[in-house]
Amino acid sequence: MTYQGLIHRYGQYLDLPAHTKNISLLEGNTPLIPMPRLSKEFGCELFIKFEGLNPTGSFKDRGMTAAISEAVGRGAQTVICASTGNTAASAAAYAARAGLRSIVLIPEGKVAAGKLAGAIAYGAEVIQVQGSFDDALSLVVEITQKTPIALVNSINPFRIEGQKTSAFEICDVLGSAPDWLCLPVGNAGNITSYWAGFKQYQKGLPRVLGVQAAGAAPLVLGHPVDKPETIATAIRIGRPARGEQALEAAQESNGSIIAVSDGQILSAQRILASEGVWVEPASAAGLAGLIAESAVGKFDAKGKKVVVVCTGHGMKDPSIISESFQSPKVISANYESLIQVVGV
Ligand SMILES: *Cc1c(COP(=O)(O)O)cnc(C)c1O
Repeated sequence: MTYQGLIHRYGQYLDLPAHTKNISLLEGNTPLIPMPRLSKEFGCELFIKFEGLNPTGSFKDRGMTAAISEAVGRGAQTVICASTGNTAASAAAYAARAGLRSIVLIPEGKVAAGKLAGAIAYGAEVIQVQGSFDDALSLVVEITQKTPIALVNSINPFRIEGQKTSAFEICDVLGSAPDWLCLPVGNAGNITSYWAGFKQYQKGLPRVLGVQAAGAAPLVLGHPVDKPETIATAIRIGRPARGEQALEAAQESNGSIIAVSDGQILSAQRILASEGVWVEPASAAGLAGLIAESAVGKFDAKGKKVVVVCTGHGMKDPSIISESFQSPKVISANYESLIQVVGV
């Protein structure tokens, strides 16, 4: 039978109310891509779970199919979220699919172009807040407490249910859980979901390495960060809604949560691209963390299965060309100029 989306495939494992009405864009079923060169370098079997290949370009679609399906079944007419960008695009797409009104609050000037464009294209009412993601989330919580508007941020429990499916897929492909799972941590919904998913599926448990950006690392510092700063805008969050659960996942799994610099993130992004996988900066944090831990002897991957979760597609954040890669050369439209640049 052809693939019919996550609720169809894994609904029996998801704690969704009976009123749920399946709204799907055939999200999930993303590839687990073997990375031969990185595997060789680290002496392990390394795979990328490429979540950038979801319908709106990030893993947010897994949770959004569940959250919107529940909201529609309950009779919601309008949904709202705060977003660093990808949640906005995803909420907008699933709301459009369901015929709902969608409102998204984003921190002014801090959302990557590809994400903002998506949210607008799918028809969301995009509101820029003069503040951080955390400020936007507080406003969203307040309005959903005082009005019938449905909240679809990852404090919505159905988002977590939907996002568990990536752990199920990994187990189904590998036959069991990997030895290590490395992933970026922002608001901490995803790490919470993976850990819940692996525990529920009972195909073994990975050690979890959660990775924050150094300028937005409340879980590493042990206190909220008032003015989070990082080039990895998807994890530019100073007060993670599920911080406690993230720390629990790291502790219970005998893993850890660490911070890496923007430079390390951009370097990991280039390494992934050099092996054919282009991800947005935040998505490279998992690999950056693995590299950093290996360098100090804290990541023993020898002979192990390692899954690095790449959460969003590179096309989401095209500004990276000017910031991290070489800009294209310009030549006159003649053969001499071409052969000079090509150099053969
Ligand atoms: C949302 C997001 C994250 C962070 O996930 P959390 O669940 O907030 O920890 C990381 N990378 C990308 C691309 C995202 O969109």
